[in-house]
Parts: sequence; C-alpha cells; structure tokens
Amino acid sequence: MKEWLRKVMTGRYGVDQLSHALLILSIILMVLGAIFRVGILNNLAMIVLVLSYFRVFSKNINKRYQENMKFLNWWNPIKSKFYNFKNKIKQSKTHKFFKCPSCNKQLRVPRGKGKIKITCPNCHTKFEARS
Ligand SMILES: [Zn+2]
Repeated sequence: MKEWLRKVMTGRYGVDQLSHALLILSIILMVLGAIFRVGILNNLAMIVLVLSYFRVFSKNINKRYQENMKFLNWWNPIKSKFYNFKNKIKQSKTHKFFKCPSCNKQLRVPRGKGKIKITCPNCHTKFEARS
C-alpha cells in the first residue's frame, strides 16, 4: 500500500498550505450548503475539492509552488492580524494598548500605573495616557 502510494506520488507536487486551505474551504462550503440548504454551495464545494486534489497530484511543481507562495503572501498578514488580536485580548487584563499619535504604532503598557508618560519606541514621540 505504501509502495503503491509512493509510486503514485513520485514527481507530483503533494500537499501544501494552499491545498489545505482549499480542503478546509470546501468543508466550510459543504457545511454552509447543508445548513442553509443551498445546492450551489455543494457544487462549489466539489469544485474547490477537485481543485485541491488537482494541485496535490499535479506534476507542474513550479507552478503549484508559485501559487502557494502567492497564497501565503495574501494569507500570512491576515493570520498575523488574527493572532495579534487574540494576543491583545489575552493581555488586556494586565496591559493597556495605545496607538502612537504620530506614527500609529501599537504600544503596550502595564495597567494600573495611573497617568503615565509614554515614549514611542518607534518615533520617540512623548504623550500622556492613563494606564
Ligand atoms: Zn510613534
């Protein structure tokens, strides 16, 4: 079985982040289609699923690699924004967040210190705020 799989996958692209994302997207579409009873979502899910498998078994490795890079360039900033948001919620009990009034950089200070002077580490602008 393993030998068979190795033979089939020789020279083929394999799984990457984009095919993972397409798989997840097709599952989401299927679930949404089932909940809202919209048939077109199921068709869409099948198309996305086929596309995902097509990429995994594709022999045009260079092109698939380029697609994945494009996807990651689009996805990574979204992902890091999400993680930053999650971190902010986690730290909101112990820290307060401010935006620098001149460069808009996100600044974090410990809570409960009263009125404090904050110096932006990025542009060295000083401003007062209540922590
Ligand atoms: Zn600044």
